Amino acid sequence: MDKNQLINAINTAYEKFKDIHDGDNASYIPFLAQVPAELTGLCFVSVTGEVHTVGDTDYSFAIESISKVITLALALKQHGAKEVHDKIGADATGLPFNSVMALELHNDKPLSPLVNAGAMATTSLIKADGAEDRWQQILSMQSAMAGSQIMLSKDVNDSEQMTNTHNKAIALLLQSSGSMYSDPFQACDVYTRQCSTLYNCVELATTGACLANGGVNPVSGETILSADLVPRLLAEMMTEGLYERSGDWAFEVGLPGKSGVGGGLLAVIPNVGALAAFSPPLDVAGNSVRGQLMIKSVANDMNWNLFNSVAH
Ligand code: GLU
Repeated sequence: MDKNQLINAINTAYEKFKDIHDGDNASYIPFLAQVPAELTGLCFVSVTGEVHTVGDTDYSFAIESISKVITLALALKQHGAKEVHDKIGADATGLPFNSVMALELHNDKPLSPLVNAGAMATTSLIKADGAEDRWQQILSMQSAMAGSQIMLSKDVNDSEQMTNTHNKAIALLLQSSGSMYSDPFQACDVYTRQCSTLYNCVELATTGACLANGGVNPVSGETILSADLVPRLLAEMMTEGLYERSGDWAFEVGLPGKSGVGGGLLAVIPNVGALAAFSPPLDVAGNSVRGQLMIKSVANDMNWNLFNSVAH
């Protein structure tokens, strides 16, 4: 990897897209609606722990849906790939992340651990002795992957717990069809907490760099996940990481990614590193507008599309 080319690609992407004003903050979670929309950050962490940043990369934002990747890593570690695949699935729903119709259409099987139904089912799969134990295990996994102590935001969590009626309804539907593996309200509560932790771009990129580096955190040296499980997790990100725009993302960028309605976006380049972007305004599917543009720009400049090949 040419370091100067990378720094140039990151700075160019930031300068080119930081003043784009398309999209809107998520408004269905009151806290997210009031995060300053102009904030924009971009960070790369390599598999050797090198860090490059530009923009608002110190700002801590709500991780939201990206937490689904981390809880999935823990579930894969505890249950193995086959059980997670059998119980949850690995397909795109093609529908919004909180769709009830997606459950109706697929005999109440969530299909993906990266939509709300599958994510709450995944949270319920964590082997735990009650809500606190479930929560602490997930928080520890978030911290281990980020390489620093991740904290819950009381403000975000309060805002979400007061408005998560739709997710509670999904949790009950899962229970009624046998796809919920703990008390449904406990799963929804802990899922809501896992969405309400704060990350900056460096912590998010470090999380992704663990997945680029065979499951080992390149900054702390800690083994997070066995290397054979990493491709399973990245495949889930490729199929459903950007909601119903995941196919478009695969087509345009060709990297496993995951976005959250807090404005975070993560992309993993296996054996190279990870890019994390933050910018609150979202497209209609829930993906950061500037985040997508910046990561796509860097990935294109660096020729990082996983599907690239050369004639032999
Ligand atoms: N906590 C949010 C929800 O459950 C996360 C959604 C997202 O980022 O996709 O609606």
